[in-house]
Amino acid sequence: MKYSEIMVRYGELSTKGKNRRTFIMQLAQNVKEALAEFPNLRVRGERDRMHLLLNGEDSELIIPKLTKVFGIQNFSPSIRVEKDLAVIKAKAQEMMQEIYTGTETFKITGKRSDHHFEIDSQQLQLFLGNAIVDIFPDIKAQMKRPDINLRVEIRDEGAYLSYETIKGAGGLPVGTSGRGMLMLSGGIDSPVAGYLAMKRGVEIEAVHFASPPYTSEQALQKAKNLTQKLVAFGGDIQFIEVPFTEIQEEIKRSLPQGYWMTITRRMMLRLTDMIREARKGLVIINGESLGQVASQTLHSMVAINEVSATPIIRPVITMDKLEIIEIAEQIETFELSVQPFEDCCTIFAPPQPKTRPNIDKVHQYEERLDVEGLLARAFAGIKVEKISAQQETTEFADFL
Ligand code: ATP
Ligand code: MG
Repeated sequence: MKYSEIMVRYGELSTKGKNRRTFIMQLAQNVKEALAEFPNLRVRGERDRMHLLLNGEDSELIIPKLTKVFGIQNFSPSIRVEKDLAVIKAKAQEMMQEIYTGTETFKITGKRSDHHFEIDSQQLQLFLGNAIVDIFPDIKAQMKRPDINLRVEIRDEGAYLSYETIKGAGGLPVGTSGRGMLMLSGGIDSPVAGYLAMKRGVEIEAVHFASPPYTSEQALQKAKNLTQKLVAFGGDIQFIEVPFTEIQEEIKRSLPQGYWMTITRRMMLRLTDMIREARKGLVIINGESLGQVASQTLHSMVAINEVSATPIIRPVITMDKLEIIEIAEQIETFELSVQPFEDCCTIFAPPQPKTRPNIDKVHQYEERLDVEGLLARAFAGIKVEKISAQQETTEFADFL
């Protein structure tokens, strides 16, 4: 069917009273960014609905992408026609001719939002119901759970006809809950954590620690590609690359290996917090899952978390690996995550990290490091790059 627009119904946002306007504007922006590859698409956010004017863009390509954007309850691809009964009737008949295969039951749901329109909702339903029976005399009308529900809505700007209601991603528009720094490795867990934080409206910036030449260009690209997968849920994401080589070399050189992991993580968290502050973020998000590895015991978390009072959101903390993988597959990050490019933690992983680090020893060992100097130099070397939707996998193809 050649649709002229998609009518979007807002999710939870309708309950947000005064913030409604901000929510709608944010969602409109996110939709534009997530669908940036369709240049003719126009987005109009109104109080109770959002309209995506297709201007010739293909709804078949847009629909699967729209189902990912957070903050949308459901949507209906619609055809807009003049508010003229003869025109509406002809279009309703034409649509039924395309959909009806001879066995379905049907119903017309009429709605008159424009009260100046010549007939009311009931009369409209009757009029169009009859028009359908005229062309399909054997068709059965059914009010409860019909196979086809043809909706006709008379609004100020025109009459809208639709028959499909497609479920949206739910959640809140990304950005409406404030900003957080996602610690994004190349692994399976952190992209899922980012996705889940986005679901509740958190705008994320991806902070990635890279240790060239120990970590490769491909590992960095992998993290960027993972970030790009997340763009689909709420628009552009800033990717922040942090040079971590000096810190890792220094830790390896001057500390006993049992404490490499704990102190590395503390340095990562300190840097992430500095970046958060500089970029006006409110929280930090990571992909820690309780008990998964040595750094993710409660004892380790306490020792690592000591360096920051910033709230840390850990969306996958209580999930089993298989549950995390299930989401990773659904959001299409899994395949990227399992590419074998080592990240900085794998390469510097000690053979026997402490699962119960002693906090006094942690402090004692850190005295051997020029913590402030190391942090300042790494911070000075961060690189920020905006990751947008666009042609998904072009760069990625080189590494297959
Ligand atoms: P993931 O699958 O997310 O890599 P993981 O199970 O491998 O997680 P760790 O490697 O212990 O766990 O990392 C725990 C968390 O620390 C990650 O989920 C991520 O949030 C953060 N992290 C680890 N390595 C990096 C990195 N190179 N850059 C940014 N954050 C990282
Ligand atoms: Mg990892």
